[in-house]
Amino acid sequence: MVIGMQHALPRIAPPSVAIAFAPSRNETLIMYRKIKLKRQVHDLRANEFGSLADLRETAESPDQNILMICCADHGLVVDDLSFTDQQHCVIVRNMAASIPGSCLVGSSATINGIQYAIRRRNVQDIIVCHHFNCLLAAHWMKPSLNPVMVGPAREFIQKAKHVVDEHYHYTNQRERLGLMVCEHTLFQLENLCSHDFVRNRLESGQLRLHGWVVDDDTARVLSFDPIEHAFTGLEQLANQDRIS
Ligand SMILES: [Zn+2]
Repeated sequence: MVIGMQHALPRIAPPSVAIAFAPSRNETLIMYRKIKLKRQVHDLRANEFGSLADLRETAESPDQNILMICCADHGLVVDDLSFTDQQHCVIVRNMAASIPGSCLVGSSATINGIQYAIRRRNVQDIIVCHHFNCLLAAHWMKPSLNPVMVGPAREFIQKAKHVVDEHYHYTNQRERLGLMVCEHTLFQLENLCSHDFVRNRLESGQLRLHGWVVDDDTARVLSFDPIEHAFTGLEQLANQDRIS
């Protein structure tokens, strides 16, 4: 059984990003492979991440205690989770599931939405949810745009795009885009953790993190495994059970 989104929204050609990193003789297993990432790039704490079992347990509560930060061009797919329904989730949508870090000054609708979810809704799990067929990311990876972009586009170019082009081997542009989407998701998790109101709750065990990348064509979710430092099938992550 596939666990993740219940419906796919095909848009552009599906990426084959993982094929280069986990070759399989059986193509039906391609979506069950890992996308290994460079461990030295990020500073994320493994014990602050949760699992699918954690999310299922959280969803048993009648409250809205799961926060999803999603890409606006991902449509309504994120409202269609297989393990829970929309009434349990607070949804924040923006450009490429981007989260401003604490070093940036000024008001941010995304940060305001996250603060509301944590302080007023008492969310226990935060999912940063990106997707492989992101039209924004595909646009931002074009070299001609580099000098003029600002905001989330500039962050994508300076971090995810730079890291992939400097540190990864890829054989085509779909692999390159897939890696950038994965790296961008981890950079946003780091930005999220840079805010004191998030960091304090993580350290006291009141919050758990989840990094997801969705394959738009299969609706399958790959989740970040902080031990393996890889994106892998959501159901394969062990339950860390930090929140009792
Ligand atoms: Zn997108």
